Amino acid sequence: MKQTSREFTKGKFCVYCGCSHPLLLTVDHIVPKSKGGKDIDSNKQVCCYICNLFKGTLSDKEYKAYYKNMVALYGIGRIKLSIGNISLKLTGTDNLTPGKGIK
Ligand SMILES: [Zn+2]
Repeated sequence: MKQTSREFTKGKFCVYCGCSHPLLLTVDHIVPKSKGGKDIDSNKQVCCYICNLFKGTLSDKEYKAYYKNMVALYGIGRIKLSIGNISLKLTGTDNLTPGKGIK
């Protein structure tokens, strides 16, 4: 039986920024499908919606380099904090810690 993306991301966190909010986690293809990557588990990793958006069609290696530059140049960590704020609004609970998900 095929795993749903919710099952695949359960209890995991974004491999790039560490975000672990279940509503923000997506299944990402290490080698993008647009570059011939296959839809198999060994080509999948967990990545948050924001990183997935920034990553676009970049490969894992390319996005890691891009992310490092973003951290150095713009302090992308602030985006991570704003993800936490969005999560608070979405769930209406005080049990969230930015970057750590639901307790
Ligand atoms: Zn992320």
